[in-house]
Amino acid sequence: MTRKDRTEGIYSRREVLDESERRQYCQLQLKELLSYAYRYSEDVKKRFDRAQFNVDKFRVLNDLKHIPIIKKKELIFLQSMGPRLGGLLTKDLGELQRVFLSPGPIFDPEDRSEDYWGWTEGFYAAGFRSGDLAQITFNYHLAPAGLMFEEPLRNLSCAVVPAGPGNTNSQIEIMQKLRVTGYVGTPSYLMHLAQKAEEAGLSLRKDLFLEVAFVTGEKFSEKMRSTLEKKFDCIMRQGYGTADVGCIGYECFHKSGLHLSNRAYVEICHPDTGIPLKDGEVGEIVVTAFNRTYPLIRLATGDLGYLDRTPCACGRTSPRLGGIVGRVDTTARIKGMFVYPHQVEQVMARFEEVKRWQIEVTNPGGIDEMILSIEAGQFNQEEELLHLFREKIKLRPILKVLAPGTLPPQIRPIEDKRTWD
Ligand SMILES: [Zn+2]
Repeated sequence: MTRKDRTEGIYSRREVLDESERRQYCQLQLKELLSYAYRYSEDVKKRFDRAQFNVDKFRVLNDLKHIPIIKKKELIFLQSMGPRLGGLLTKDLGELQRVFLSPGPIFDPEDRSEDYWGWTEGFYAAGFRSGDLAQITFNYHLAPAGLMFEEPLRNLSCAVVPAGPGNTNSQIEIMQKLRVTGYVGTPSYLMHLAQKAEEAGLSLRKDLFLEVAFVTGEKFSEKMRSTLEKKFDCIMRQGYGTADVGCIGYECFHKSGLHLSNRAYVEICHPDTGIPLKDGEVGEIVVTAFNRTYPLIRLATGDLGYLDRTPCACGRTSPRLGGIVGRVDTTARIKGMFVYPHQVEQVMARFEEVKRWQIEVTNPGGIDEMILSIEAGQFNQEEELLHLFREKIKLRPILKVLAPGTLPPQIRPIEDKRTWD
């Protein structure tokens, strides 16, 4: 059986709009969305009025920053405020197709419109093609993922095995007997399937027929990608989205970051002020999907990322998220700078003698102080370490060199001990 070409082609013309076409398209979509939402969503009306935001004054993308962001956590409370999910919806619940419940607990409405969750272009970019048989290992019960990912496969004329999570042995048997070509699920579950299949004596390349995998919901490292791609001889691509808005970004064949979805406008903002940051700066991913039924305007996802506008070899012109680098609530902001555990780790990895490390933040007298403790038997590169730290993280810590075994066995990379009165 010859394999399909999974690398060429673009699903939608919107993926290749030039910069000014894209800007105009987003401006028009946003303008229509804001007017509609102001008219039909009680919550949006309240929010705009409170911020004295006049919909008629919206002209350019930059005007969006005058609308306060909604933190994802606020949805729990807002949805409980009355009918139509506290006025967030612009129609009655009975006019929808489905209502899901995801952890939080937050309700996720799904309308009856075509490609409601917006994943089709992303699945095409990942390499799914007409005639694929895809096994979906996400949950179908209450949470939206299972059914959410059926939608793009149906649109691309693929068939689905709605396997759901668990029952690993049956999953492997199905994959083998039906010659399943596509996988949809978390990367770690695919790894688990691979291990179990190998333990059962199967050859992943000869006894299974996987050609393409779409993964999401977890951190997906390049190491894991290359391991799994080699094991199965398949293409693995990831997507990024939320249960509230659906697709936000997806990878293409060139794996150069996540192309932003064409059905949403994405900003990278300062997590406190909601003010958009410059390209390349790390901030909170704030998304406005062009969704009139559930207009979550400027939803702050809690995820941290940055934008890359350099051209991509695939021909798609949308800016790309250069990966999701962390969560707002697990990242410390010290002296106004973000300090990400993975960045510190990158610095520490350069010094072989450093076995373990921890950052402790305090604020004596209201001023942030950062202590970097490292465990090392012998260490005489203090200046180099501090220099590299400052180059990468833009801050100079107080360095403490400790004997191995001094730090407690279970530590958080960044321990925030600041007090706020
Ligand atoms: Zn691309």
